[in-house]
Amino acid sequence: MIAEVIVDIAHSDVDKIFDYACGEEILAGMRVVVPFGRNTVTGFVMRLKEQTDVPPEKLKRIYRAEEAYPALNAECLALAGRLAARYHVPLALVLRLFLPAEMRTGKASERYVEFARKTQAEAVFPKSAKAQQAAYAYLCEHGEVQAGILRERFGGALSALVKKGYAAVEKKRVMRDPYRGVVGKKAEHPLTPAQRYAVTAVERSDRTVTLIHGVTGSGKTEIYLTLIAEQLRQGKSAVFLVPEISLTPQMLSQLRARFGENAAILHSGLSAGERFDEWCRLREGKAKIAIGARSAVFAPVENVGVIIIDEEHDGSYTSETSPRYNTFDVAYLRAAYHGCKLVLGSATPSVETYRRAKEGEFGLITLKERINRRPMPDVTIADMRREVRRGNATIFSAPLREKLEGCLASGNQAILFLNRRGYSQTVLCTTCGYVAKCEQCDVSLTYHSEENCLKCHYCGTSYHMLSACPQCGGKHINYAGTGTQKVVSELKKLFPQARVLRMDNDTTSGKEGHLKILRSFSAHEADILVGTQMVAKGHDFPSVTLVGILDADMGLHFPDYRSGERTFQLITQVAGRSGRASEKGEVVLQTYDPENYILRFAVTYDYEGFYKHEIAMRAATMFPPFARIVRVMVVGEEDKQALEALRTVYTRLQALAAREPEKFLFFNKMHAPIKRIQNKFRYQVLMRLTDGGPLPEIYAACDGAGDKTTLVYVEENPSNLS
Ligand code: ADP
Ligand code: ZN
Repeated sequence: MIAEVIVDIAHSDVDKIFDYACGEEILAGMRVVVPFGRNTVTGFVMRLKEQTDVPPEKLKRIYRAEEAYPALNAECLALAGRLAARYHVPLALVLRLFLPAEMRTGKASERYVEFARKTQAEAVFPKSAKAQQAAYAYLCEHGEVQAGILRERFGGALSALVKKGYAAVEKKRVMRDPYRGVVGKKAEHPLTPAQRYAVTAVERSDRTVTLIHGVTGSGKTEIYLTLIAEQLRQGKSAVFLVPEISLTPQMLSQLRARFGENAAILHSGLSAGERFDEWCRLREGKAKIAIGARSAVFAPVENVGVIIIDEEHDGSYTSETSPRYNTFDVAYLRAAYHGCKLVLGSATPSVETYRRAKEGEFGLITLKERINRRPMPDVTIADMRREVRRGNATIFSAPLREKLEGCLASGNQAILFLNRRGYSQTVLCTTCGYVAKCEQCDVSLTYHSEENCLKCHYCGTSYHMLSACPQCGGKHINYAGTGTQKVVSELKKLFPQARVLRMDNDTTSGKEGHLKILRSFSAHEADILVGTQMVAKGHDFPSVTLVGILDADMGLHFPDYRSGERTFQLITQVAGRSGRASEKGEVVLQTYDPENYILRFAVTYDYEGFYKHEIAMRAATMFPPFARIVRVMVVGEEDKQALEALRTVYTRLQALAAREPEKFLFFNKMHAPIKRIQNKFRYQVLMRLTDGGPLPEIYAACDGAGDKTTLVYVEENPSNLS
């Protein structure tokens, strides 16, 4: 047999099929070890065939298969080529996405444990062999037992039993089971008529994609679970995607309670071994539901019946490392392959998705009410300009302080949201104006009070706190801009009796970092949860009746066409954490810009109004979805080489733009907004293209523009324009 092999090297020079001779044991989709030039490398078998044009004296043979099974299934082999072409990357890079990373690095080991069982129905022991007798009795009672347990209890008795032929010890594969402890009560609600309608509408739709636009608390999760359960009943499998942080204890326990072992969870917080085992369970069909963040869209499930993308507007669905895929695009290809439904859900769909639904390309289901007609929380706007005029220089407005008092007095819980970690955002010298900056990045440093140091939020480097200004020697160091640590310390002054938890990147490291905090808050071990956008998503805390948005304007003034949309989404999501159970919720939104239209629409939960305003503006200015933003990034260790690469791509792109000027609405080269990160110089060519703009040619223009120290790549509608 002849195998067509793609070698696992991410370089365009070797991004082609190589033929190898092989035996019958080699199957399509297997990872194999092959001779390659003077090296030995891993490769993927894309196809088997009878003949090759390679002359027999030159034809090499596959050494062996890496695994006894094909790691890539037929669907992956069918789709990989299209994804590679779409994102203009070597096939090997796309194939890797379908595998757990640890499999390639050889760290994915299967775990084996010794089990003991009896081999004789009856056994006789001399009187003195008490331990052996007891061990044997234990085996009779329990059947198969982990050998370790027997050894611990009965010492050397097990070996004696084996020697006498009364027992046998065998190694067996065991699956590591993440979140073993997280099993909730089985809370299966009878669907409300609105939920029932949504389920039926999805199932009967003649469109592949359906958008469920349902306000926060409208019971979307229950709809997803019902859709999944129905597909399982039909013998199919499912993929359920959530933003990383939404893998909350509640969500996990709900899924475990409902689907038990049938759900496999793929999550960056798992250990390498756990992730590998979950992947294996899916591949072998032992688990039928793949749940996870972005990368779970590549889960090795067969016969897929439904794919769900919850919180579809979330920025984390766009990959920021090569291949820079969009989760929706991959999910759509898979859904088309399986002929199954793709369901998108959100309380605040992205403008682009909503437009496609409105125009009839996607099905659209709208849920306007919360479960049991619970009211949406009332929103109070606190005008911070007025607070300042009244002499309140603290970070809490009078209305927020008052409502916090009330909330604590009634024994309820509150969430305070501020999208900035650390104590204060910048540290500056009031004498000369010096601002403390990172040595490796073009950004100011944030003061962290717990460690009493300055940290760079881009590269993580920490610096000693300043005792004097390094520029002028002045002693007047000022802190500006509040972060979550400062909120906590101010809260402690204001409400010394309140128990406060903080959730941000600094407090959630480790495997179950954020689960621990959420669990603790959920168990009412704290009264107030202070956090960054991590607190916004998906959580369902029944006792939370107050949400404070400390700085609603913060995201509004980023130079990004989506800043208004992001702010609307974030406010709606955070506000949606309040009043989810029996008591009515409240929200206080602090702003210096109370007339801002985005905030106005957000406080009245007027998505439709927001959308109409936003889409009209995007149409008038020709921004997405009416155009596509394409950014070519040039990132280099040496400024000179980076600039050279920038010139090279720019010249090539200029030629494209000259050929079809009408397709380039905007075209310019410049520094990236952050000029340097981790000692790498950053430049960009920013373009806005009409539909049908020459995207493949732009990708091709980047080929060979970089060098060893300079990376050149394309981003489409990037979710982060810094
Ligand atoms: P969403 O995802 O739309 O924000 P959730 O799915 O979290 O909303 O549901 C909100 C709350 O309503 C949850 O506490 C959930 O347990 C509850 N819920 C969902 N469906 C029902 C139902 N049919 N009957 C009673 N309670 C329900
Ligand atoms: Zn830095």
